[in-house]
Amino acid sequence: MEKVNCLIIGSGPAGFTAAIYAARAGLTPVMYQGNQPGGQLTITNDVENYPGYPEGIKGPMMMMDLQKQAERFGTQVRPGLATKVDFAMHEGGVHKIWIDDEILIETQAVIIATGATAKWLGLESEKRLENNGVSACAVCDGFFFKGMDVAVVGAGDTACEEASYLSKLCKKVYLIVRRDEMRASLIMQKRVEHTANIEILWNTVTEDILGVEEVEGARLKNNKTGEISEIKVQGFFVAIGHEPNTKIFKGQLDTDQNGYIETIKGSTKTNLPGVFACGDAQDHVYRQAVTAAGTGCMAALDAERYLSSIES
Ligand code: NDP
Repeated sequence: MEKVNCLIIGSGPAGFTAAIYAARAGLTPVMYQGNQPGGQLTITNDVENYPGYPEGIKGPMMMMDLQKQAERFGTQVRPGLATKVDFAMHEGGVHKIWIDDEILIETQAVIIATGATAKWLGLESEKRLENNGVSACAVCDGFFFKGMDVAVVGAGDTACEEASYLSKLCKKVYLIVRRDEMRASLIMQKRVEHTANIEILWNTVTEDILGVEEVEGARLKNNKTGEISEIKVQGFFVAIGHEPNTKIFKGQLDTDQNGYIETIKGSTKTNLPGVFACGDAQDHVYRQAVTAAGTGCMAALDAERYLSSIES
């Protein structure tokens, strides 16, 4: 068992920004990186929309820089996955967090930055061509397909939003919808239906994404008629939802119906004193590196104020 002053769970932009702020405030934070050290940005090629990098930066490089910056001020960055928690219910209480089912960490301030994971279709070609035309984030990668033809899979608000976003950059956008109706809000549905360069392919599933080194197209199947067809696209965006990495907190922290941690408006405070949540684990709307970093900063400031308040 080890007692730490401030524990950060997760190592994406939210976690590292929390670490930088917490370390500079003298909280000597300890971070456990989770099973994808560096988070979702480590599976992204170029990040061109993070302010301060006029030429853009590679996702993995950015995460290494963030880690160095956090370590420079004394953050201990450690490998390990939080596997179980027992959060105290009262002010000043000690929270218990188990790492890899073995190490027990006790702390009065926990910052949760465990992120979310994009859902994928599960095709071999999707894995093989990820970052070579296959993406789960239009805002991140859409720009690389300027003037080209792309496809978006999904029929929720995310898929509609991504299709709308891409329609402003790309020549043509196919929206691949597996049923004869969408789950998205009516206003989003209308928006895609009324956009001239978006073609909705109803009752359609993706059989395969085509291309050897880069995406060249997709083979589709109409699940009503059984008809097989091919489209030529250079970008293939999977927008079938995300899953927040919050399972271990279930039953202890308030979450919405999709598992995203609820925070008190304008803060990163959860329903439990001394437990703060930042980044995609509590945000299903913006999901950007820069917004994650912003809430990471907020979490460290909230934790610092909390620790000061229980000491005094
Ligand atoms: P949703 O779970 O709402 O939608 C997922 C969509 O993907 C569904 O249409 C589903 O189809 C489809 N889908 C799932 N699996 C597959 C598959 N294997 N093959 C093909 N299609 C598949 O996820 P979203 O990310 O769209 O939204 C999550 C939440 O975030 C929602 O509450 C949404 O309202 C919210 N949101 C809000 C926004 C805003 O307010 N601006 C923007 C984006 C999201 P089917 O319908 O057939 O099940």
